[in-house]
Amino acid sequence: MTSQPDLIFDPQLIRRFDINGPRYTSYPTADRFVEAFDASALKDWLAKRAVGGVSRPLSLYFHIPFCNTICYYCACNKIITKDHGRSAKYLNYLDKEIQMQADALGGTRQVTQLHLGGGTPTFLSHEEMHQLMASVRKHFNLVPNGEYSIEVDPRKVDFDTVEMLANLGFNRMSVGVQDFAEDVQIATNRVQSVEETKLVMDAARATGFKSISMDLIYGLPKQNVISFNRTLEQVLELSPDRISLYSYAHLPGLFKPQRRIIPIDLPSADAKLQILQLAIRRLTEAGYVYIGMDHFAKPEDELTIAQRQGRLHRNFQGYSTQAECDLLAFGVSAIGKIGPVYSQNVKTLDEYYDALDRDELPVLRGVELTADDLLRRSIIQALMCHFELSIESIEIAHLIKFGEYFASELDDLRAMEEAGLVKIDDEWISVLPAGRLLVRGIAMVFDRYLRSDRERARYSRVI
Ligand code: SF4
Repeated sequence: MTSQPDLIFDPQLIRRFDINGPRYTSYPTADRFVEAFDASALKDWLAKRAVGGVSRPLSLYFHIPFCNTICYYCACNKIITKDHGRSAKYLNYLDKEIQMQADALGGTRQVTQLHLGGGTPTFLSHEEMHQLMASVRKHFNLVPNGEYSIEVDPRKVDFDTVEMLANLGFNRMSVGVQDFAEDVQIATNRVQSVEETKLVMDAARATGFKSISMDLIYGLPKQNVISFNRTLEQVLELSPDRISLYSYAHLPGLFKPQRRIIPIDLPSADAKLQILQLAIRRLTEAGYVYIGMDHFAKPEDELTIAQRQGRLHRNFQGYSTQAECDLLAFGVSAIGKIGPVYSQNVKTLDEYYDALDRDELPVLRGVELTADDLLRRSIIQALMCHFELSIESIEIAHLIKFGEYFASELDDLRAMEEAGLVKIDDEWISVLPAGRLLVRGIAMVFDRYLRSDRERARYSRVI
């Protein structure tokens, strides 16, 4: 029943239904995690993986928070420094965390997926990268055909570094670009030439990387349709296998670096929408398939194939072909998932070092999913990954009567149905082509936490 997604760009519908909301790399979203879930809870769940003798394969995530310079649009958890003494210290603590989690772990240590994110993972020197991967391989068994990916900042990376990464087993790469226009790069403090980006991508192809993904951002200062069209031409020439096209959200109150962006330089809401429309047209005309949310991929890329075959999933790295993995996360602010629980590490280096010095896992918060969370997670996952939901399979898997359980959600979907975003019948909820860019808003209807926030707000207004 899964069909290739087709996309209709309707500016009026987008203006009417586009709302800020979660990206649903997890459900419940991280802001709903609670501090009652602590290090000992994580330890228990790590051990429980072995119960019954069966355990899922593992996905590993490592957060490397250091960056050489600041990009003004940044909303990540990072530390700007040129001092490699800081990464050397961090790696020693990371090694301790890896050992502690591995010691607590029940079940198989078979790893099918690994991701280094940041910050800038390529901040690490060759020796540090070797040290980290040696520590990983000491405690885990990385299967030969796994997906091993790394985020790369092309401004600091040469052929030898890419070759070193390939020799260490990395076979997927995500390259940060955002925009090639010079005035946009100056306004965001990230000056990066097409040539240095091409060098890294050519090196990745020459050394056997299987998939290269590129990040772009629309809505940046000084951006306009003409300049972004030129960027898209350059991107298409570089021909990445996947493209992420994120919307820039200007929230200087939340993210300090964004205060360096001059608001008058930002494109208007209309201009931003035109840039998005242009990008979607250029990418789809060039043959890229819209996967969902902000992601495009070539038809032959494994993400597109997984979506066609109904195997696509969504996790903290975005869309993924790795379904039933438990995710162990290491480093500051990293988020992991084991069976029905999520846990997140502390966010600052000091807290991270303090916890590990006390021989404690550096957990900040987490959540153990209820039956209702699990049910809603599978609905949100199906809508985000496949644009459709089989009502019968949800009823069978979760032993509910869909129409009764979700009566108010179905009511709320009616306006979207009337506008042509979704189609609802007795068997399926389908996101129609005009609703696909708005799938986050459709998924939000099933988010119990947002619903109760709204209820509370309504209640307090009445009072
Ligand atoms: S956008 Fe990436 S490279 Fe730039 S400061 Fe943020 S984490 Fe570092």
